[in-house]
Amino acid sequence: MHIYSPEQKVEHPLYKQHRVEVFMKRDDMIHPFISGNKWRKLKYNLQKAQQENKKVVVTFGGAWSNHLLATACAGATFNLKTIGFVRGEEVRNPVLDMCRLFGMKLLFVSREEYKDKDALFYQLENKDDNFLINEGGSGLEATWGCKELISELKQEYDHIFCAAGTGTTAAGIAIGINDHKWKTLLHVVPVLKNGEFILDEIKKFNASTDQTILHLDYHFGGYAKTKPDLLAFVQEFVASTAIMIEPTYTGKVAYALHDLIKKGYFTENSRILFIHTGGLTGLLGHLDKFKKG
Ligand SMILES: *Cc1c(COP(=O)(O)O)cnc(C)c1O
Repeated sequence: MHIYSPEQKVEHPLYKQHRVEVFMKRDDMIHPFISGNKWRKLKYNLQKAQQENKKVVVTFGGAWSNHLLATACAGATFNLKTIGFVRGEEVRNPVLDMCRLFGMKLLFVSREEYKDKDALFYQLENKDDNFLINEGGSGLEATWGCKELISELKQEYDHIFCAAGTGTTAAGIAIGINDHKWKTLLHVVPVLKNGEFILDEIKKFNASTDQTILHLDYHFGGYAKTKPDLLAFVQEFVASTAIMIEPTYTGKVAYALHDLIKKGYFTENSRILFIHTGGLTGLLGHLDKFKKG
């Protein structure tokens, strides 16, 4: 299936000042709801579900999960029913409401129950019709989809930046870089605290981590946590580039990139690619926090 994800040069005064070139892989443009890396992570999972004649896709996520929304919309697109187990007590928010609009059945479970995903899956009816996709869409099939991103690029880069939650996207990209025998350094920004584990996650998929660098100091307090500094940065970035980012994933990566540029981390004429992993509906949970002009 053809996707639209252009590779665009980003203009920002900071890049000129430090003589670096920054490009963005616009995976956010793939689809408004099956967005960014979630499209890539679902692709081979859904193919497998169809090949196995499954009727229902079952998956897991938090209350603001981009993956739940992507799966709900993909289910509606490919004629598969969807069930989403949501971590924590029942809440309503725009992301969950949109999941329901796409026909997803939401089942709220306690944080304790949520830990045992297999148990939740096996207690469902008509087990043989059901296809399980991990939380965040993570897994081997997801890396196959993510590594294709590298084959789509028109040029080799010195540096590639991406966000990590589970690390599956980073693993796919690392595999793509290895396959192409590029010298590119992969910079991964874990968006949660204690993100060291991401390196092990990448290794799990037999991807070499020789060219991978983790930047552990840009989580801003943890997953989905923000600070005024980050919010102000996101606001400035969006206004000056006209590219929408959000504070949970892409905002943290862009912040890390700008911080490293300011610190003189990159040599002159470095070519840097920023992977826009999408997920802009996450903004709906933060909009009221931005400063009024
Ligand atoms: C889910 C998500 C990620 C994290 O991807 P992983 O493969 O879990 O590391 C990054 N960016 C956005 C926008 C996401 O929605």
